[in-house]
Amino acid sequence: MAAIDGLPPLRDVITRHGLDAKKALGQNFLLDLNLTQKIARTAGPLEGVTVIEVGPGPGGLTRAILSLGASKVIAIERDARCLPALAEIADFYPGRLEVIEGDALKTSFEDLATEGPVKIIANLPYNVGTQLLVNWLLPKTWPPFYQSMTLMFQREVGLRIVADADDDHYGRLGVLCGWRTNARMAFDVPPQAFSPPPKVTSSVVHLEPIENPIPCLAEDLEKVTMAAFGQRRKMLRQSVKSIGGEALLAKAEIDPKRRAETLSVEEFCRLANCL
Ligand code: SAM
Repeated sequence: MAAIDGLPPLRDVITRHGLDAKKALGQNFLLDLNLTQKIARTAGPLEGVTVIEVGPGPGGLTRAILSLGASKVIAIERDARCLPALAEIADFYPGRLEVIEGDALKTSFEDLATEGPVKIIANLPYNVGTQLLVNWLLPKTWPPFYQSMTLMFQREVGLRIVADADDDHYGRLGVLCGWRTNARMAFDVPPQAFSPPPKVTSSVVHLEPIENPIPCLAEDLEKVTMAAFGQRRKMLRQSVKSIGGEALLAKAEIDPKRRAETLSVEEFCRLANCL
């Protein structure tokens, strides 16, 4: 495996620092630095960019991001055992890596980065990945504090993120992502690429915020998608009964015989705006 920097191989780092993977923290580490560079490259040019990374672990993706020229990486890691390994990377790239020990779910990301454009790049812990994505889609202000998000999820979640109407994976997540971002599937990563290997294939998705999404209140969009997809096989006149039923659908000029998965993001926004 080609070295991307003068630091030791990740397998040695993990052994030396005793970083046995903890399932409860979603720890599946990537050891191939060519693969972590491929993920980092999906985010586009990194020169002059501040990258926010969640869950650096032993630092495979962090090293790739730094080697590709990011001016700074701010990494939030919950597992204190990883900090000495990350400190070695910080020494190798002086002034360019800031590690914050903490829970990403309790981190105020808007307040973290103040310099230059910001990109989010992360191999997310599976147990909190979707919640983090939803938080990043619903920040206090829009356009958001970041230029793009390049994130690894279980493939199943990745398919839901990029799904459009008439796709079996289309649901609340697809509507939310489609409303505020252009989301695309970048590539799959097989279980064998990780240590330990997870049970399922993973996917890297890349999302770029839309500057002017359709005006709509997130909480209203959430209400309509929750009702409509709560009974996705039923006709809308039945599934949205609790939030206005046929009268709401008539106001939004949507045929009550249609099903949730056939509605475009624009139609969901129309429905939300008629609530
Ligand atoms: N980035 C590394 C890689 O690609 O090899 C590790 C990725 S591993 C899938 C997820 C990482 O997220 C672990 O290092 C884990 O300790 C960390 N983590 C789990 N929950 C977290 C949380 N709530 N906040 C911050 N980090 C978390």
